[in-house]
Amino acid sequence: MSSGDTIVAVATPPGRGGVAVVRISGAAVPDIATTLLGALPAPRHATFSRWHDERGELIDIGLALYFPAPHSFTGEAVLELHSHGGDVVSSVLVERIVQLGARRARAGEFTERAFLNDKIDLAQAEAIADLIDAGSRRAAQAAMRSLQGGFSQAVNATRAALTSLRVYVEAAIDFPEEEIDFLASQELRERLEDVQQRMQRVLAAAEQGAALTRGLTVAIAGRPNAGKSTLMNRLAGHDVAIVTPVAGTTRDLLREHIEVDGVPVELIDTAGLRAARDITRDAIESEGMRRAREAIARADHVLFVVDAAEDPEAAAFEEERGILPDGVPVTLVMNKSDLPVATRVGEASSGAASAASATGASPRLAAANSPGRIAISAATGDGIVGLRALLAGAAGQTDAGPGAFSARARHVDALRRAAAQLDAAHRQLEAKQGELAAFELRNAQKELGEVVGDVTSDELLGHIFGSFCIGK
Ligand code: GDP
Repeated sequence: MSSGDTIVAVATPPGRGGVAVVRISGAAVPDIATTLLGALPAPRHATFSRWHDERGELIDIGLALYFPAPHSFTGEAVLELHSHGGDVVSSVLVERIVQLGARRARAGEFTERAFLNDKIDLAQAEAIADLIDAGSRRAAQAAMRSLQGGFSQAVNATRAALTSLRVYVEAAIDFPEEEIDFLASQELRERLEDVQQRMQRVLAAAEQGAALTRGLTVAIAGRPNAGKSTLMNRLAGHDVAIVTPVAGTTRDLLREHIEVDGVPVELIDTAGLRAARDITRDAIESEGMRRAREAIARADHVLFVVDAAEDPEAAAFEEERGILPDGVPVTLVMNKSDLPVATRVGEASSGAASAASATGASPRLAAANSPGRIAISAATGDGIVGLRALLAGAAGQTDAGPGAFSARARHVDALRRAAAQLDAAHRQLEAKQGELAAFELRNAQKELGEVVGDVTSDELLGHIFGSFCIGK
């Protein structure tokens, strides 16, 4: 299938660079190439050429690569011109190609054509965008696995098993006198359970992949001066936040993307949560706190930082517990472990001291290291390795292995619906309701078809390809 018109775009990012690539795809490519280059280059050979404007003036010299249809990325005739990198040269070149009959491509239109021409399926097309956007090495590897068809193959294998199951069930419905016996058969139940297990495996891999693609959002919360900004800088490996001994320095949210064991993590340093009794009437500060609470509510994980030297019992956390949303896991970060505990609470730490002496660890460190709680010094870096491991664990990726595919929320949702429909089919079979079971199985198959793009609406396609970059 070819949409008729020929499209052109700069495929490399804007700005200065060694080389810019202009890409053209469509039926008019051979004519455009012949006019612009003087002759059609040999297929798949880098050909040195000169490109002129309509007045015969030289625009640039560079390499041309010609891919005749259907052996190209889009499945159409494709020409790539490698010009000197620079916005002016490449845009003049694009203008010239538009004059010769192409039109400017929309975002993602090259990949959309690859999909429409059956070069790749929809999950693979999405994997291209995920590979380009990958925020970590692991996310890139997962996207590559999907792009090479790993995810689609797993989905298609489940679909194939489901198809043969459906043939079986639908045939039984057509022979009502034998239906009841058949629906009770052991073989049918085993087949359905096999499909259910396959579905669960694909779903688990997709959920893992979606977490890798999306990454983890971690909010750093706590009272002013607890050391939140110092911790943010320590985890980021450079200064992101301003650190001062003056409480309330961070008034807005600071965001930083880091990578923890190959998992993308967005860190959000929130404004200090002051105890209600200390709240001032400062409008900026109260807006900062409102945003802090919002960020905390949306985070996947909260690091609640406590100044353990001043507050070894984590009273600040106990006071704020009520405002922390249910369902967001919290780790209590007992910071400033390099400082001695303030003398007024000396008694409270004496028990911990004797417990810790057996391990040889510092008294406060041993006392604080219970589940959901970690002792660190953001200033010296002590305990940061453990905190990073904890974050990697929070992302659920510590034992991800090489099995994850890049997947999107859309895939996970469709697979979950399909899994639920299989469960329903199982119940209907147990109740010997053949028609209803067949209906659920049909729906489950439709959901799987949606993942790889066999059943899709134009609206969904517009949404998916519209989020690509131009030239891809
Ligand atoms: P925030 O208000 O929670 O962001 O706290 P800051 O990161 O601005 O730190 C407040 C003060 O505590 C600064 O003077 C930091 O240098 C100091 N601080 C932060 N973490 C530590 C730590 O682990 N040990 C020590 N000794 N001081 C720290």
